[in-house]
Amino acid sequence: MPFRCSPLRGLLFLIALLCGSTFPALAQESDELTLAIHRDFGYGGGSQIQGLFTLEATGPSDLASVTFMIDDIVIGEATSPPFKLQFDTDKYPAGWHDLIAVGATAEGRRLTSQTRRFEFVSPDFVWKQMSSIFATVGGFVLALMLIGMAIQFAPSLLGKKRGAPFGAARNYGWLGGAICPKCKRPFAIHWWSFNAGFFRKFDRCDHCGKWSIVSRASREQLAAAEAAELAASQPEPPISELSLEEKLKRQLDDSRYIDE
Ligand SMILES: [Zn+2]
Repeated sequence: MPFRCSPLRGLLFLIALLCGSTFPALAQESDELTLAIHRDFGYGGGSQIQGLFTLEATGPSDLASVTFMIDDIVIGEATSPPFKLQFDTDKYPAGWHDLIAVGATAEGRRLTSQTRRFEFVSPDFVWKQMSSIFATVGGFVLALMLIGMAIQFAPSLLGKKRGAPFGAARNYGWLGGAICPKCKRPFAIHWWSFNAGFFRKFDRCDHCGKWSIVSRASREQLAAAEAAELAASQPEPPISELSLEEKLKRQLDDSRYIDE
């Protein structure tokens, strides 16, 4: 050990400290009894537990037997590894309990585990807890759906027209596109549209915001509708409006011609 520590002169003292404290600790650990708790079936929320659990004690290799206790009352013994014992929290009164294991080695040494503290809760408490979680999650999902719908409908509620500019390339999605019978523009059929029978949907146009019964349009029909949109969108040639300065300039130019 000193050979490994010596090249690191600056850390020598620290390493010596660590070496000095680690080895006896390791020697101690092998002689300790550790109590673990596993859930087999039931509820475990922090220190609150309910249902079937297994206590498991691990210790030195010569561990011969382990006695398991709840509040100093023996609940069972294991005489061969793995040292385990299953228990049901419902068989004990609700409230805080101390769980502990006491082991004996082949040489007759007695080892005591750390104490594990748990609050046993009633199935009724767990049911209430779970239903409040479900209510919260359910409320959250509902809120998300409402937000989604609000985003979808807000523009029409606010009186704004929503949708792609004329002739814009668009993705119709997996439900395909439909052509609005009111404004003749193509739009993607919405997942939330209502079934209207015979592969028809009662859906709302993204462009004019009107509801109508539509059916899925073919690729050619959609392309034609897009082309029609594009043609309709060709901007009008701007009406020339000359500024006052330009008018004066032009008048001046005209008068010059007259002079010459
Ligand atoms: Zn429309």
